[in-house]
Amino acid sequence: NRRIVLAARPQGAPAAADFRLEQAPMPVPGDGQVLLRTLYLSLDPYMRQLMDEVPPAYAPRVELGSHMVGGTVNRVVASRHPDFKAGDLVLGNAGWQDYALSDGSDLRQLGEMAQPSLALGGLGMPAFTAYVGLLDIGQPKPGDTVVVAAATGAVGAIVGQIAKLKGARVIGIAGGADKVAFAREQLGFDVALDRHDPQLAQKLAEAAPDGIDVYFENVGGAVFDAVLPLLNIGARVPVIGVIAQYNHNGALQGPDRLPAVMSAILQKRIRMQGLVILDHYETRFDDFARDMAAWVVDGKVKLFEDVLDGLHQAPQGLIGLLQGSNFGKVVVRVATS
Ligand code: NDP
Repeated sequence: NRRIVLAARPQGAPAAADFRLEQAPMPVPGDGQVLLRTLYLSLDPYMRQLMDEVPPAYAPRVELGSHMVGGTVNRVVASRHPDFKAGDLVLGNAGWQDYALSDGSDLRQLGEMAQPSLALGGLGMPAFTAYVGLLDIGQPKPGDTVVVAAATGAVGAIVGQIAKLKGARVIGIAGGADKVAFAREQLGFDVALDRHDPQLAQKLAEAAPDGIDVYFENVGGAVFDAVLPLLNIGARVPVIGVIAQYNHNGALQGPDRLPAVMSAILQKRIRMQGLVILDHYETRFDDFARDMAAWVVDGKVKLFEDVLDGLHQAPQGLIGLLQGSNFGKVVVRVATS
């Protein structure tokens, strides 16, 4: 039973030496437990925050020497739980390891799926985040201008496609020429801009001559600076992630933007609201699952995955995700059956 543990707390961007691949004893299920084999592991930006001494408010930190946590698709190998039997395919939280135990409370039956990894991406948490953040907080109307960064990523690609379905004009911001072309050609965004372009602020202003009605905040940093002056009166800003800050160990960079942000919120009557997706499963997941399945079947939303092969790839996968080297939702294929 291989597992990858946190070997050291990263200083800035995580490095390979912050992780360690170990062999652990094979877990044995007790009464009421199931033994899970990990098939797919999701890699997500929040994992970087759990590596810090001081974790975010919504989840505990990973302890040094403990396995990295994460959402997984699992096969039940053995069960001493009445609701699960060997062979069931489930959504779980087994983390970065081959095998894990669960008491069943965190598991969801998936049934048989042609592409089970989608339960971690386009039919799961990141797409659900896009759905709730955009529709419940962003509330795009036909003709609105919607801006999203990390636009070809797990969340951003879905935000843009749903915004298009709702009749909005969508501007995506992504890292590099390939992603910019992809956002336009594959995802159908009206405009796509490169976040590395030194003229980003100017180009965004040109691309949004009528201002911005919805800014889906995925990244923070320089993109936020470019967006802020363009927000319209009554703009909505769902605050979902600030990945530009995750590698800074809590120390914030750059000039103090607070006075400008507060003035803009007041004068433009901006509605800015944070979202932690864990809060919304009970009330909104069924709506999401129904709508998304229909959109995918009808070809209205396309799903893209970046699949890494083998558990040993997980550290580099997370390091790359935080730098922008991923193309679509990042999953690690840990085992095939
Ligand atoms: P992605 O698949 O979009 O991958 C992360 C992307 O972030 C990278 O590919 C890169 O894209 C971009 N990025 C990295 N560094 C920067 C930077 N300094 N400035 C701008 N962009 C950067 O990840 P997800 O879709 O899974 O997550 C997107 C955001 O949503 C994250 O902030 C994440 O924490 C948040 N999130 C929040 C949830 C919640 O409940 N609040 C739930 C799920 C996700 P590129 O190079 O193309 O710019």
